[in-house]
Parts: sequence; structure tokens; C-alpha cells
Amino acid sequence: MKELICITCPKGCHLKVDEETFAVTGNSCPRGAVYGANELRNPVRVITSTVRLESETFRRLPVKTDRAVPKAKMFEVMDEIARVRAHAPVKVGDILIANVAGTDGNVVATRTVEK
Ligand code: SF4
Repeated sequence: MKELICITCPKGCHLKVDEETFAVTGNSCPRGAVYGANELRNPVRVITSTVRLESETFRRLPVKTDRAVPKAKMFEVMDEIARVRAHAPVKVGDILIANVAGTDGNVVATRTVEK
């Protein structure tokens, strides 16, 4: 039995997940059951970071993946992010890396920088 804390909402229910059947107990709502089973089958996260930025005003640009990507790919995603250099102007939502690390997720800007 694997013990987890559900991070889907601030309540933070303490879950127990059967490692063979993926049955979940301790959840206060159905989302916890989905989260608990997925954490054992294929855990995913939205990844946030920054990239180098050519700009008059900022040196770094905050970015994130536009969907949750497999935790197993996190280091590949971070390697690709570390190699990117953005150039102002950049708008929120601009795609800086498409299909990052083959995850189908994109790395997008989370700040607009005009110059
Ligand atoms: S199980 Fe439901 S109520 Fe509990 S933390 Fe997860 S989402 Fe929130």
C-alpha cells in the first residue's frame, strides 16, 4: 500500500493506494481516486522554470509546460529548457519549445516582455 497526499486541491487528503489494483482510500472526492491511481501508473506534473532572455529589461523569462508531462521526462524537459534563449518581444503563451522531450506538451512564456 502506497501512502500519498493528494495535491489536487488545498484540502490535502491522505490517500492509500493499492499497488496492484490501484484502488484508493482516504480520498474525500472522486478526483483523489483519479490522482492516486495516476500517481502510481504514470505521475505527471506541470513543470515551471526560466529561460535566458535577450531583452533590455529582464535577463530571465519565466516559462512552464502548457500541460502536465510525465515526471519520468522531467530531466529531459529541463535539459531542453536550459538550452533555449528567448528574444524580446515575447508574449504570454508564446511557444518556446514545441513537443518538449516528445511529451506532446509545449514550453510557453508566462510573462510578456515588450523590449
Ligand atoms: S481527494 Fe478531493 S478533497 Fe481530497 S485533496 Fe484530493 S481533490 Fe481535494
